Amino acid sequence: MTTAPGTAFIYSERYQDFDYGPGHPLRNSRLALTHALCRAYGLLGLPTTRLIETRSATDAEVAFFHRADYLDVLRAADRGHLAPHLWQYGLGTADNPVFPGVYEWSLLTTGGSLQAMELVDSGQVDRAFSMAGGLHHAAAARASGFCYINDAAVIIKHLVRRGRRVAYVDIDAHHGDGVQFAFYDTDQVLTISIHESGETLFPGTGFVEEIGTGPGTGYSVNIPLLAGSDDVIFVWAMDQVVAPLLTAFRPDVVVTQLGADTHRTDPLTNLALTTDGFAEAVRRLRPLCRRWIALGGGGYHLENVPRSWTLAWAIMNEQAIPDELPAAFREELRRHGWSASRLGDAATAADPASREPAWRYVREQVRRLQQLVFPHHGL
Ligand code: ZN
Repeated sequence: MTTAPGTAFIYSERYQDFDYGPGHPLRNSRLALTHALCRAYGLLGLPTTRLIETRSATDAEVAFFHRADYLDVLRAADRGHLAPHLWQYGLGTADNPVFPGVYEWSLLTTGGSLQAMELVDSGQVDRAFSMAGGLHHAAAARASGFCYINDAAVIIKHLVRRGRRVAYVDIDAHHGDGVQFAFYDTDQVLTISIHESGETLFPGTGFVEEIGTGPGTGYSVNIPLLAGSDDVIFVWAMDQVVAPLLTAFRPDVVVTQLGADTHRTDPLTNLALTTDGFAEAVRRLRPLCRRWIALGGGGYHLENVPRSWTLAWAIMNEQAIPDELPAAFREELRRHGWSASRLGDAATAADPASREPAWRYVREQVRRLQQLVFPHHGL
């Protein structure tokens, strides 16, 4: 008898056709590396796993969330027609360059997340992973933070129209602002984001006081952390907040954004997680996600992203895999100049005194959430 869940891994070699440009921190090769590592571990050939070639979203599908004038400008920019007011839409900046195929790329990443949504919502699989998705910063009419089309908001809009109660849990180092504000006034979507504080990190939002508005009051939840917060603090905060709220909310489907930029060596952020801490966070999500759509997200150190997301995919499939990286993959890393030999990281010797401010801060954030948000959920 098998108890393994049915899963789907959404992927396409076409991801490598697109490039944000030289010097841009978001590298699509991280997706190919993750695919290679999952395959090397035998995690793509499991009897319960379906490998799905990514399709592109249609204009009509992304228009569920995005405004028509923004989509027109983005589509035209991709064809070389640069509107003079491009900047109003967040386009043509260092973060959001108009690179060749930018609209096509955005439709492709969103298509993958729509496939994950369809497969899970229809009951064809229990869990699906669209690692090219999780582009959580884009707003309805504005590109932001390397994100042009907000695939998470698009798929949640589709689920809401079907009458589903949706929980969105975002463990990226950055606040999931685009998704939070897309559903800020509804109690049909519960958004929870745990991230480095907006005091020190883009996009500068995600404070505990942002709890939603109108009927949505209490349905936007933020757990900001101090720079330097580590595995233990991160997982402790999740235990205090995510588990009780998801249990009370009883979602039909859970969408998780699994950004891997919380890592201690990520070049863009200041948290101090290891791959072990990231994996533990995903493990804590697993029992809370009866129907589970997992998206990717940030992650700017190419040695960490494939290890983190392979761990996540193994956990989604209830598989234990050896800590030692397969030899062929180690070779591949070495060609890039990296030296990781294991999935897990060596634990850092924690200095209790230096961690105390981060502990004090997170305890205070949790205490305030328990006052501001928990009563809206009968807790
Ligand atoms: Zn991020």
